[in-house]
Amino acid sequence: MTFIVKPRLVHAGMPRNSLGLTLRDYEGAMSTLCAGCGHDSVSAALVQAFFELDMPQEQVAKMSGIGCSSKTPAYFLRGAHGINAVHGRMPAVATGAAGANRTLCAIGVSGDGDSLSIGLGQFAHAIRRNLDMLYVIENNGVYGLTKGQFSASADVGSAAKKGEVNQQPPIDPVLLALTLGAGFIARGFSGDKPQLVPLIKAAIRHRGFALVDVLSPCVTFNDHESSTKSYAHVRKHDVEMVHADFVPHAEPIVAESEAGKVTPVTLHDGARVLLRRVSQDYDASDRANAFTHLVECQARGEIPTGLLFFDEARADMHGIANTVDEPLATLPFAQLCPGAEALDKLQARWR
Ligand code: SF4
Repeated sequence: MTFIVKPRLVHAGMPRNSLGLTLRDYEGAMSTLCAGCGHDSVSAALVQAFFELDMPQEQVAKMSGIGCSSKTPAYFLRGAHGINAVHGRMPAVATGAAGANRTLCAIGVSGDGDSLSIGLGQFAHAIRRNLDMLYVIENNGVYGLTKGQFSASADVGSAAKKGEVNQQPPIDPVLLALTLGAGFIARGFSGDKPQLVPLIKAAIRHRGFALVDVLSPCVTFNDHESSTKSYAHVRKHDVEMVHADFVPHAEPIVAESEAGKVTPVTLHDGARVLLRRVSQDYDASDRANAFTHLVECQARGEIPTGLLFFDEARADMHGIANTVDEPLATLPFAQLCPGAEALDKLQARWR
């Protein structure tokens, strides 16, 4: 991956956190995503959350798979550890990183394609193991990096850029996580930073698997071919001299929600979604209640947002596997390698 270094302009009056760092210090490389892509707003929310939590960057391991969303970790926390894994395999890498060093704050950024198709098994087992991590899904219903095919979260009836209509029912990561026993489940919208930042902060502080599903519009593949003003239409009636592509400039969508209220949001292609933020008296500790709320919202054509379920009683992966407190890299060799005699004894048990 090629990085474009962002100029670091720090105004003398910029607020600093308890580590003496500014918001700028928590940024990453210059984004190469399309202008207006919701994922950049998610990066900005992550920057804000880590800044407000006074998080030392060397304590963070940021991981991703493949897709537009998986480029995101390059755009925040330039001083953190990071690995860009293969498609759908980020949870396995996160399991290894967290297992080797439980003092790290593990964060995975994935997409609906990366998590709900090729990576669905990995996603499910990370929840089942209660891996101590923040798992962000930047959810836009399409494979942006490979030019806008439907992903497994695309709604029935939604149209792709080429005009075909999706007929397969979506996989809802929130409902799935609820069914699989996740202890922290939230949904936000990339254009609602005041709601998203606290959700991310709470998810980082949660011990165990914390899912934050973020609706993050893809500005490029909401541009339908049925429009005579679309890029696809122009290309069809044009004589191609050289194959080139162009991504139109777009502004990020911003919409702040209110507790208990429905916020209509118009996407770049004119489609409207209804975001329902949970009310003040919503009980996020009751799994059955959360399930009913999600299904009722779905039936009304609304997308529920906010902290949807929370339970910290379940032991996380470290508690279940009884991992050591210290990072493996700091343990003395004798403790890491008990020697040939101990290994012989262990192997004798299976003979
Ligand atoms: Fe974002 Fe879509 Fe562009 Fe990918 S193709 S960077 S998801 S707007």
